[in-house]
Amino acid sequence: EVVTRFAPSPTGFLHIGGARTALFNWLYAKHTGGKMLLRIEDTDRERSSQEAVDAILDGLRWLGLEWDGDPFSQFANAQRHRDVAMQLLEAGKAYYCYASQEELAEMREKARAEGRPPRYDGRWRDRDPSEAPEGVKPVIRIRAPQEGETLVHDMVQGDVRFPNKDLDDFIILRSDGTPTYMLAVVVDDHDMGVTHVIRGDDHLTNAARQTIIFRAMGWEVPKMAHIPLIHGPDGAKLSKRHGALGVEAYRAMGYLPEALRNYLARLGWSHGDDEIMSTEDMISWFEIEDVNKGAARFDFAKLEALNGHYIRMADDAYLVERFEALLPELEGKSDILAKLDEERRARLLAAMPGLKERAKTLVELIDNAAYLFAERPLDFDEKASTILTDEARAVLGRILPSLEGLGEWTVDALDGAVRTFAEAEGLKLGKVAQPLRAALTGRSTSPGVFDVLAVLGREESLARIRDCAS
Ligand code: GLU
Repeated sequence: EVVTRFAPSPTGFLHIGGARTALFNWLYAKHTGGKMLLRIEDTDRERSSQEAVDAILDGLRWLGLEWDGDPFSQFANAQRHRDVAMQLLEAGKAYYCYASQEELAEMREKARAEGRPPRYDGRWRDRDPSEAPEGVKPVIRIRAPQEGETLVHDMVQGDVRFPNKDLDDFIILRSDGTPTYMLAVVVDDHDMGVTHVIRGDDHLTNAARQTIIFRAMGWEVPKMAHIPLIHGPDGAKLSKRHGALGVEAYRAMGYLPEALRNYLARLGWSHGDDEIMSTEDMISWFEIEDVNKGAARFDFAKLEALNGHYIRMADDAYLVERFEALLPELEGKSDILAKLDEERRARLLAAMPGLKERAKTLVELIDNAAYLFAERPLDFDEKASTILTDEARAVLGRILPSLEGLGEWTVDALDGAVRTFAEAEGLKLGKVAQPLRAALTGRSTSPGVFDVLAVLGREESLARIRDCAS
């Protein structure tokens, strides 16, 4: 059985790159009928927080990426990590190192002077611990192979070779008895039965070091897949402005989780030219081997377009739910939230077909829905005020009687009445529709004006028109 894992460090929100890593792990697990486990890498006590853990779990749930079983805490496993370090020590696969800070600084200095990466020189590798200096607490280092190379057989990157002379005897247990990240990951992946490690390619060199620990323990090395990082549209490292944000920021910007998920799936992976993919399609099509080797580029415009598509295709009642759920997160929308009673909710639902045609995000949709919640007399934006000239107000005054006398307040009946009026007056339809729209919504753009009239209902519509008519 395939077991993948998502292993975030809870030092901040679930950022967009982490969300994509989680998605690929999830897709692969679903594709193979396996499991995705969640491991919180909380060993850095200073930087980890419960708040961040909660934000990560919330982000994953919002995206619909449910993990299997309870989340693991890496920190809770520290004793097991220490035990493994001791096992390696006893087996001669690791050793105590008493090098002082000064000695290590010298090694780094020497490396810098010679223009090579810093590397521990192995001075305690074959030395007898009886030579240990008084009062120095040792670290434990892995006895790494010095000759040959370590091969990482990567499902995305192919075979990546690391000359062992470049991988030094790195530390697995610190002098205070805490395990290093390198050791903790290997022990946890083994203990959790992880078969596939899917993560960002910034961990590729770690994969070589981790392979050395797996081998030293005689454990099977999991399959590895290092996926390229996400870059900005300019090809540079992803910046905040270009999308390096937490998942909760995307929620607050009004993206639908299914749209973001679809977008993220295609960041670095694709299935022919398919842009829109249902979750079932993604799961059945996803293959790690099809993940691109090159960095993916994040493109807000594409995400928006995709989100617009998902909004148009979404069920009206579902959008009302999302609308309501998003309101508390938005600035200055508490009045709408307060007004959202049964009647207004029904109105919103009735308006949704018109609203969803015009919005790329839920935030835009909420903004366009403002007319439903506006109180008379309305506030008019600049363009609407320009439309409402004396002449336009007179037109409103003259159309009022035919609207008031309308038997049926439906889109068709309203459409007919307005057209008849325009023809009788020798006016273009726009000359009537524009003032109506301005009077009804306070704006110059809105869903179709007949839809607006129908959704607002007879009483409210007539009242708003009277407010502007002369
Ligand atoms: N905790 C690491 C990170 O957040 C991931 C480690 C791993 O996947 O092996 O980058």
